Amino acid sequence: MHDTDSIFEQLTERGHERLCFHHDEETGLKAIVAIHSTALGNALGGTRRWYYESEADAVYDVLRLSKGMTYKAAVSGLPMGGAKSVILLPHREQPRTQAEARAMGRFVNTFNGTYIAAEDVGVDIQFIDWMALETNHVMGGETVSRGGDPSPWTAMGTFHGMRASLLHAGLGDDFSGVTVAIQGVGHVGESLCKLLTSAGANVAVADINKKSVDYVVDTYGCTAVHDADILTQECDILAPCALGSVIDGSKISELRCKILCGAANNILGDPEEDAVALKTTGIVYAPDFVVNAGGLIHLAGMHLGMSDELLQTKNDEIFETSVQILQRGEAASSTYAAAVEIAEQRISGAKETGIHAS
Ligand code: NAD
Repeated sequence: MHDTDSIFEQLTERGHERLCFHHDEETGLKAIVAIHSTALGNALGGTRRWYYESEADAVYDVLRLSKGMTYKAAVSGLPMGGAKSVILLPHREQPRTQAEARAMGRFVNTFNGTYIAAEDVGVDIQFIDWMALETNHVMGGETVSRGGDPSPWTAMGTFHGMRASLLHAGLGDDFSGVTVAIQGVGHVGESLCKLLTSAGANVAVADINKKSVDYVVDTYGCTAVHDADILTQECDILAPCALGSVIDGSKISELRCKILCGAANNILGDPEEDAVALKTTGIVYAPDFVVNAGGLIHLAGMHLGMSDELLQTKNDEIFETSVQILQRGEAASSTYAAAVEIAEQRISGAKETGIHAS
């Protein structure tokens, strides 16, 4: 994927500031940090541990994810930039080790706080706390670092985005009797099941991990659906909470939902085109980087010294932000375009004044 594009072409195209590669001789760690923008402030973004088929795939992933973090922070009104890191695993099921985490922590430390790491796919609280033995510039641990698992906050923000979407679609803001289909009931998906079923929604779920499905069926009364059928499930809200790029041009005509609102990063294969196609089809799309910002808001907010009360207020603001973006999406080509416009206005405003947002 993208083998033919030069690295600098890719950086220029997406507007990245830095892309840094690291090899640790002692542990064999291979990692990349991408800093997309520091126009609004230092950049917090998760570390992903993943087996990539090629180095080009890893570069593509870290560039795409880090740009998404810039938009996520900007649209949430945080004085933070956007960055992300990836660890290139030598094998698919490579177990994590303290030595690997500490090597990554030393790499993160070389950025002197411009880049602040946190959890992402394959990185848990323990890994964060191991990284924190080598750097202060990491959030999301429980013993050495702080903040803990951001997933419940991400789920809460996504729940706010769903409520805004229901209102926008003329379906009220009451979840009772609303049907939601969730793809992926891992950390975020499970918390969403809890919130939604408590609010009276009927929740259908699918996950490639049967244990996770059994847990939410037994605990919250969700209904299990086959993996292959979850995206085309007839429902009010479809919530992809597993992987990115699950909806693209070819799948949009098969969707049987009224609203697309999930926590996964980069749900749409080609967000610009696919969001327009969703609008044309009459599906309300709540952009992922708007509704899944709860975890970032929590960890970045703690890093910035916000009180618990302010952290809650900032998470609740995802509702208002979503309402505003869904409304603006009516006049714009799509809700995605409306959200990007708001984010880019804030970033260019900071660049012009040279002052970080507050
Ligand atoms: P997770 O790894 O805990 O959960 C993902 C779940 O998806 C797992 O249970 C996995 O088995 C399942 N899955 C994978 N492939 C699947 C498939 N093809 N069909 C069905 N299920 C599948 O991850 P998470 O922390 O819950 O994050 C979920 C998504 O939300 C990711 O895309 C992540 O990048 C995004 N996200 C997470 C946070 C956060 O705070 N954790 C914040 C923002 C965005």
